[in-house]
Amino acid sequence: MNLIRSLANLVPFELARGLALTGRKMFARKITIQYPEEKTPKSPRFRGLHALRRYANGEERCIACKLCEAVCPALAITIESEQRADGSRRTTRYEIDLFKCIFCGFCEESCPVDSIVETDILEYHFENRGENILSKEQLLAIGDKHEASIAAARARDAAYR
Ligand code: SF4
Ligand code: SF4
Repeated sequence: MNLIRSLANLVPFELARGLALTGRKMFARKITIQYPEEKTPKSPRFRGLHALRRYANGEERCIACKLCEAVCPALAITIESEQRADGSRRTTRYEIDLFKCIFCGFCEESCPVDSIVETDILEYHFENRGENILSKEQLLAIGDKHEASIAAARARDAAYR
């Protein structure tokens, strides 16, 4: 009986608090975004679609050390490599399975030459079986196309890395 009386006393107070919150939010500034026409700002550390980067002279950065492949918790990266005639080592196959990837960022954190990175691209889709696997050529093409924004994001974040 006492419990019922206590609950009866409590409900109006809780109800008033709830209504007060509703009232406050009703007149607060609205934050609804009309996506895709409107977009929210993204952090320089946003982890979206992957890319492989090149140096300014066009040479690919990746030295096929396979650290990214080893560190990937989802086993999403597959690398094969060989030695070039000049003695340097480069990948002959570099693939990322986006169905396996959990966008943890470990691959870019582990890369000693800032080659594999995650861009801020979040709008992409697949229409055919197998398109979830990004090849080396596709990754390099993404890197070539977005190098300016990739470099700018890294420069903004450099002090915290
Ligand atoms: S972001 Fe994480 S899960 Fe995805 S490829 Fe890189 S290391 Fe693997
Ligand atoms: S992308 Fe970086 S970590 Fe991965 S194999 Fe190439 S150099 Fe090594």
